[in-house]
Amino acid sequence: MRVLMLAPPGGGKGTQGIRLAEHLGVEHVSSGDLLRAAVAERTPLGLQVETYMNAGELAPDALVTEAIRPILKTRDDYVLDGFPRRLAQAEGVDFDAVVFLDVPHDVVKERLLARGRADDTPDVIENRLREYDDDTHPLIDHYQDKGVLLRVDGDRPPDEIAAELREKL
Ligand code: AMP
Repeated sequence: MRVLMLAPPGGGKGTQGIRLAEHLGVEHVSSGDLLRAAVAERTPLGLQVETYMNAGELAPDALVTEAIRPILKTRDDYVLDGFPRRLAQAEGVDFDAVVFLDVPHDVVKERLLARGRADDTPDVIENRLREYDDDTHPLIDHYQDKGVLLRVDGDRPPDEIAAELREKL
């Protein structure tokens, strides 16, 4: 089974994606984790994406696609977190289910400020939310049209959300 987690930044796609992957017995693949590891290791990819990540902007499609595609090619099943993040990245990747964790912007802002990751400062958070609205949100309609979208209320205790996902997937 191939599942995509879609949510605004701070919407819980990492937390729920890991739990769902465990439940399904498949790998959790996170583009954000992969890119953060590349930055930490100072690889050529890391050096190219670092400024975008620090600014809360999406990294160039070609770079992220080249980094993720080989990982997907060698696996049949996965829970994918953070890719595709833009319609231009969606070509050639199909999902059995796309989970949309719906969380209002004011709630995710509070969560991100409390989390305090390097890219969780007020200015960067605003940029990430804007990029989400402009670039990532259109994917929701895209997968709705394909008939694979599962909308879940993400403004609830994590255990409740995880239980709903286990029941429905
Ligand atoms: P995340 O951990 O999913 O919040 O991602 C952290 C940052 O990594 C984002 O703000 C982007 O800068 C970058 N990133 C992650 N996934 C992608 C993607 N699919 N396309 C472009 N940039 C990405």
